Amino acid sequence: MELAKKIEGRIKGLLSSACTITPYREPLVGYASAQDNLFYQMKEVIGPHHLLPQEMLADAKTVIAFFLPFGEEIVKANRQEKEVAKEWAKAYEETNQLIGDISARLKNELEMQGIKATFQKATHNFNEIDLTASWSHKSAAFVAGLGTFGVNKMLITPAGCAGRFGSLVISAEIPPSPRPSEEYCLYYREGKCLACVKNCPVGALSIEEIDKKKCYKQLLQVAALFPGLCDVCGKCNIGPCALKRC
Ligand code: SF4
Ligand code: SF4
Repeated sequence: MELAKKIEGRIKGLLSSACTITPYREPLVGYASAQDNLFYQMKEVIGPHHLLPQEMLADAKTVIAFFLPFGEEIVKANRQEKEVAKEWAKAYEETNQLIGDISARLKNELEMQGIKATFQKATHNFNEIDLTASWSHKSAAFVAGLGTFGVNKMLITPAGCAGRFGSLVISAEIPPSPRPSEEYCLYYREGKCLACVKNCPVGALSIEEIDKKKCYKQLLQVAALFPGLCDVCGKCNIGPCALKRC
């Protein structure tokens, strides 16, 4: 069986056998060339601390990106709750753990076939001063054709944007996935919606940008509501693009 199919099968199998309270929908998987020019452009824009695939793995050939979409009930819970729903916070925490577990299992299995692999942790790999990360799974997923960015700065996939992304860099070549040819965000395509901007409880989001510091402050306040869980919000992630592309 070709490698891409094997990887997709393993991610689906590992997700369906995961012991989580959180329900998930079918995962999505995409592939990017490790030499894709977009990785170099990201480094230029974000700064020298942002890693190229080749800085994570010397003979990097392919970046595998995957999306674990939350079940519909998780989105509904966060839509209904005025504050952040406990189900959403739990989903965020469990999914970060799951992304780490899936990535570690894949890495081991690929290495047993003589393919080198590496990955970064699912979250909190950012610099707390300027809030920029050394690697972005979401951006890797964009390069790997999994979706387009919305006004909410989330990557909207065919299964929406409510979920979490993971990625690995590997030494085997897999043909890159095509990137979408149209915008999946209603505002960018048709100039309407902006549910994400209206839903942000602290006005951190505008059409032009996200005020990362304001947003992070809100995340830390939410973290205080869920001791032992996580800093999360997602109120800009429950609009019409949450469960499917628009
Ligand atoms: S809520 Fe609407 S405007 Fe915001 S990202 Fe989704 S589709 Fe775009
Ligand atoms: S995560 Fe919350 S605080 Fe941050 S931009 Fe989205 S809605 Fe606003």
